[in-house]
Amino acid sequence: MAAQINIKEKEIMIIDAHAHIYPDSVAARAIATVIENGRGTVESYTDGTFNGLLNSMDEAGINYSIILSVATGMGHGNSILQWIRKTALRSKRMIFFGSVHPLDHDYRETIKEMKMEGIQGIKFHPGYQNFPADSREAFMLYQEVLNNDMVIHFHSGFDPSLPECDFTSVERFSNLLSAFSGSKIVLAHAGGMDEWQKVMDLLGGRGCYFDIAYVLEKMQASESARELYRQNEDFFLFGTDSPWCSQKKYVDLIQNSPTLTTEQKEKMFFRNIMKLINIDDIKKSV
Ligand SMILES: [Zn+2]
Repeated sequence: MAAQINIKEKEIMIIDAHAHIYPDSVAARAIATVIENGRGTVESYTDGTFNGLLNSMDEAGINYSIILSVATGMGHGNSILQWIRKTALRSKRMIFFGSVHPLDHDYRETIKEMKMEGIQGIKFHPGYQNFPADSREAFMLYQEVLNNDMVIHFHSGFDPSLPECDFTSVERFSNLLSAFSGSKIVLAHAGGMDEWQKVMDLLGGRGCYFDIAYVLEKMQASESARELYRQNEDFFLFGTDSPWCSQKKYVDLIQNSPTLTTEQKEKMFFRNIMKLINIDDIKKSV
């Protein structure tokens, strides 16, 4: 476990803004289920546990990972909170976001408790949570999160495990941004995997953040994705979707990129995300 990180000693600090772990007792089953459902398209690069991710971070040179969970049913937000309470004590290098389900009658209370616990963001996957991202009911939920000055992290775009679902479409996030402009919103997978032109037209330049989790290789291979990045470089966050991608590979791809400048790499690796979250043991001087 790393001691306090003195950024002056490091050229570049690296924060993975999109990673997943599971409680130790269910990690093996959770990973097996996703791989099975993916029918050969999904691999895992850690065993899905806390220690597995920490080892992966050490190997990749990643200082911090933001851990994302999704509340898939009533009451699940609360059990996620209980798990975070225990697990966050094990390392300051894991920054946990919470989640709540829109059907939870006490979501206000849960969000408040999460805030009081020091949790800085809430993750939603409207596909898994079964509501359209731009539905009016969900807007009340988002407003509650934003009233608590927390970040909202969304799954965005097509999800191969839900091929028929349009709840996280680029168009829906465009509607959502009209209602919540200027808010601390992160859209995963660069706004929508493989829909780069549409993302550029509907979501680019609107003040929301994008992570590159799971889509980095695809983005590097597409001229329109590269243009989307160039137009929004102050809003792009490094993220891997670990365990579903290799943290080391993602770090290497950015670090060794022949086209990104040092300044662009720094923004991607930590400067942009530091506009959204606080890290206790890092001085604000970054
Ligand atoms: Zn993910």
